[in-house]
Amino acid sequence: MILDPETEARTWEEQRAADDPLYRRQIGYLLAHSRFYREKLAATGLATADAIGGLDAIEALPFTEKDELRAARSEAEPIGPHLAADIRDVVRIFSTSGTTGTPSYIPLTAADLAQWIRISSRSYAASGLAAGTRLISTYNAGPFVAGVGLDAFAALRLCHIPIGSGNTERLMTALRQLKAEALALTPSYALHLAEWALERGVDLRATSVARLAVAGEPGGGEAALRTQLQEAWGAKVTEAMGIGDVAATLWGECEAQGGMHFSGRGFVHAELVDPDTGDAIAMEDGAEGELVYTHLKREAAPLLRFRSRDHVRVSAGACACGRTSPRIRCIGRTDDMLIVRGVNVFPSAIREIVATFAPAAGGHISVRPRNPGPRQDPPLRVLVERGAENAEAGLAEAIRTRIREALMVTTEIVPVPFGALPRSDYKSKLVDWSEAAPKPSRTSAP
Ligand SMILES: [Zn+2]
Repeated sequence: MILDPETEARTWEEQRAADDPLYRRQIGYLLAHSRFYREKLAATGLATADAIGGLDAIEALPFTEKDELRAARSEAEPIGPHLAADIRDVVRIFSTSGTTGTPSYIPLTAADLAQWIRISSRSYAASGLAAGTRLISTYNAGPFVAGVGLDAFAALRLCHIPIGSGNTERLMTALRQLKAEALALTPSYALHLAEWALERGVDLRATSVARLAVAGEPGGGEAALRTQLQEAWGAKVTEAMGIGDVAATLWGECEAQGGMHFSGRGFVHAELVDPDTGDAIAMEDGAEGELVYTHLKREAAPLLRFRSRDHVRVSAGACACGRTSPRIRCIGRTDDMLIVRGVNVFPSAIREIVATFAPAAGGHISVRPRNPGPRQDPPLRVLVERGAENAEAGLAEAIRTRIREALMVTTEIVPVPFGALPRSDYKSKLVDWSEAAPKPSRTSAP
């Protein structure tokens, strides 16, 4: 079902035309209410709405970096000087998981929250979740923006069964007794449940679950992992992706499974840029780059050209579902990227290749950099779990060769027994920095 057909099926050009007046109004709002942007724009000689202009001139504006927002916060302004609404109009404040120490706060007014729920609802509706669908969620959303997903489930009138993570027995009991039709979880947890079931002789294909709505990390769109999950569960896998500072579940994959559609239309303007030069890249079929976002109607904490650090590959053209936005797959995050003798490599890309060796390889990997920071000397050490049943001779060499061919990176593949690498209820950790000395000061985002 298309939740907002008038918006979701309009052409990309019509969208841009509809967004332009919203963007101009948002710029006026920023200049009036956001001290952060008033100062930032004035510093680049763009102090008035006239000087800034419309969407066709957006590329002249500076980017906003997450670190910049972090640095601008203080005890006096814990949210930051980009807070642009009266705090008495803020109805919710989410926070990030704070991997870098102090959490950052994400405030929403009532109108902001309603927009986020609408965006998330579009994404989940695209994945085939409809009124009456019995869905088990496994997110311990707590303070995190994933909590908006729970509001969206109510808005879509799903039969939502929140179970949380960390108690697989309880989840499997609820799944069986309440005959859940869908699960919302991370791909890591979906894989963990598949292994759990295999060990206990439980046939997940015989359960009532027909859909897995995965999110929270890249992986659900990787072909080999997706096939593995779909076969283990006898269910259709679709993925979704959001970004805390911009909107939860901003992208949602439809049932055609060709990538995630943009669900933020009319609320958020998305751009694709070259991560190294910052130059704009057209959102055409096959294009790759980093996503950059600008709010069009945000009140509490509007952002302008916010660098997501998410690297994506775009698919354009008609989709069977009728939605007209480009579709994306997330390739990886800048924070996770390693540079091996000048070649950029995402740990998720290594995992994707290793997964094609199933069942000889079990799917779990652990990259072990030796140097702190992204720059590494070859060979890059990668621990690869063998499959549950057999250990094929020559597996390490075959994986090493295929990674070299596909990614131009020389690796040292170290096979380890099935079950040797840590499992996660939430996000899998593909890089283990314990062998790099001294420890890196940077930490990857959640
Ligand atoms: Zn579609």
